[in-house]
Amino acid sequence: MSRWIIVSNRLPFSYDKKSKSLKGSSGGLVTALNGVKSKNPLIWLGSLPSSTPKEAIALIKKTQGKMSYAPLIIEDQMYDDYYNGFCNDVLWPALHYETEFIKYKTKNWETYKQVNEIFAKEIIKIAKKDDVIWIHDFHLFLVPKLLKEKKPNLKVGFFLHIPFPSSEIYRQLPCREEILESLIKADLIGFHDYSYLRHFCSSVYSITGIQSSMLEIIHGNHRAKLGVYPVSIDTQNFIKKAEAKKTAKNIDRFQFDKRGIGVILGVDRLDYTKGIIHKLKSFKDLLEQHPEYRGKLQLVQVAVPSRTEVPEYINLRNEVERLVGEINGKYSTINYIPVKYIFKSIDIYELMALYRSADILFVTSKRDGMNLVCLEYIAAQKVDNPGVVVLSEFAGAAAMLSQATLVNPMNIRETANTLASALQMPLHERVRRHSIMLDFLKDYTATDWANAFTKDLNNTKINIVEKIISLNKSTNKKKVQIELQKSDSILLLDYDGTLTPICNKPEQAVISKRTKGLLSKLSKKDGVEVVVVSGRPIDFLKQQLKGLDVFIAGEHGGKFFDYKQSKWRTLVSSNKNKWFNQALEIIHSYTKRTPNSFYEKKNFAITWHYRNSPVDFAEFQAKRLVTDLEASLSNFPVSVIFGKKVIEVKALEANKGYFANWFTDRYHHGEKIIAMGDDRTDEDMFSNLKNKAITIKIGKPDNTYAKYYITEQKDVDDFLKGLL
Ligand code: UDP
Repeated sequence: MSRWIIVSNRLPFSYDKKSKSLKGSSGGLVTALNGVKSKNPLIWLGSLPSSTPKEAIALIKKTQGKMSYAPLIIEDQMYDDYYNGFCNDVLWPALHYETEFIKYKTKNWETYKQVNEIFAKEIIKIAKKDDVIWIHDFHLFLVPKLLKEKKPNLKVGFFLHIPFPSSEIYRQLPCREEILESLIKADLIGFHDYSYLRHFCSSVYSITGIQSSMLEIIHGNHRAKLGVYPVSIDTQNFIKKAEAKKTAKNIDRFQFDKRGIGVILGVDRLDYTKGIIHKLKSFKDLLEQHPEYRGKLQLVQVAVPSRTEVPEYINLRNEVERLVGEINGKYSTINYIPVKYIFKSIDIYELMALYRSADILFVTSKRDGMNLVCLEYIAAQKVDNPGVVVLSEFAGAAAMLSQATLVNPMNIRETANTLASALQMPLHERVRRHSIMLDFLKDYTATDWANAFTKDLNNTKINIVEKIISLNKSTNKKKVQIELQKSDSILLLDYDGTLTPICNKPEQAVISKRTKGLLSKLSKKDGVEVVVVSGRPIDFLKQQLKGLDVFIAGEHGGKFFDYKQSKWRTLVSSNKNKWFNQALEIIHSYTKRTPNSFYEKKNFAITWHYRNSPVDFAEFQAKRLVTDLEASLSNFPVSVIFGKKVIEVKALEANKGYFANWFTDRYHHGEKIIAMGDDRTDEDMFSNLKNKAITIKIGKPDNTYAKYYITEQKDVDDFLKGLL
């Protein structure tokens, strides 16, 4: 049976020097992985501090049960350069949009690479042929590629536990290419949120030029599947803990409910991503704007120490403590302190007591991959009198908790006002909101998260980009031609790059007499129908195909000509007025700024051509144009396509894939279907006809859904001739 090898930076144990004992660490990942309902044996590979005594390591290795552990000892200096010097000083701030905190040192990047190599070597050492590898988080970005280079058949999944930032931020990273080139070698890449996935895809595109859908990235013969798997918590466990006697005792001890003072709770690691300064400022503003809360409301802020030796964290702590002092100095009375500040990690039952006593959980993260605290708070509430979650819209959890009260923590006044209204929320509304979120968390737990990822990874086929067959070889070609001659057939043929060579100017792509003659003969043959499917405007196609009895689909199927009825039809029903002028304006501005580029206006599309422009600059402009069009038109039914030296924005329905379906639904009566094309837009046709057609790509056999390929356009005539 195949085993699951889980790989994370650290193993979930720490050695306590004082008590000389091994402690299991808790946390989302541990809970989630412990809950994986897998029959397969699990191995967790991760590092341990080099100071871990041999006996403790032996104990960890012995730990039995469903999970076994594979400890990896990394020498202290190396670990420090890799973990603190690169993971925490470069990747953590960069991926959380805090670029001013990045401290990039080449030496630490080199060490990061070395440590990733050590991890990869260790995995290869223990992995067997059918094992599945699940790599966790930004510490191990380079491991997928290192593994695939040595063991291409190993199934590798990667999950990112923190945000993936906008490509505008990501591209500031000096090592941006190496990281992306490694990640796309994984078989499945998972994120907490769609926005992270979207940012990842645009970074891959703008930095490496590799296009992707939100579902997969095909590069060479490798297909990386993409997915969104928001992590959750062990909900029942938190409910149980919140209702435990120990929690009740703590509630009694804290006496929050007996003081007649409302409690706003904050629980965060003391990290600059958590927005604790913003939280304190909003609370201060609330007391300033609403004097009625003075003496009646307390902010209890647990600030769990984090990286306490690092200057940025020392500064942050100083600033937080200064602000706490300022607020307390201003509003404290003999028997009232507005901010209760706790700079330490607290016991789980104390945390549960705080969750249960607080009227509001207040999360103001500037960026947060998910934020588990707010999920735990919901699980811990009394169902008949729950509190309110006031949550930063910049936390991944905001996309999951439909009933939380969202705030933009950067807007201090608005956040303070939102807090004030949250405090006034009537009981029935609190109960309603809480029950929806609790039901969700009962239904979607950490185990469901892990199972969703592992199931998808399990189902992923390695190198499933099928081997594509060359029709340059005469034996293959004959076979296909003979098969086609035996039955009636429909030929769906692209125009530019298939029936004609690609030309510098669109108007130069005139169909040759020879090709036209072939189309004429084919269309006259009994049982054969020819359909020319092109992105070209209809007038041009009508002109080129004059006199032929062929169907014509122009503008990627937006307009269709039925030669039998001599009738044109429009197949796009959406209103282009909403987006067309906006797109035109953007494309026009790029045309002005890019020498020798020009654009074509069509009925449902605008095509920007840059074939004759200075290569490097035009490629750069093209990538930016795609990003700009996608961002500006994201709410409209359009698609933006990167073709051969063209960028095209077109109505979503003007799509060769949709057209192929529409046409075959109406005109296909059992004939063999052949689809031929050379460009991105033809891929829609290939993928939609995958199981019912002979699909042939004209060009190199990569990044395609086609089953066959012919390398050169000039050989297309010869192939068509063979069908006669
Ligand atoms: N937590 C903890 N000790 C504390 C306070 C909180 O272990 O004193 C836990 C909390 O229960 C939660 C985790 O720390 O499970 C914080 O996770 P979150 O995703 O909110 O933030 P992260 O620190 O991972 O960025």
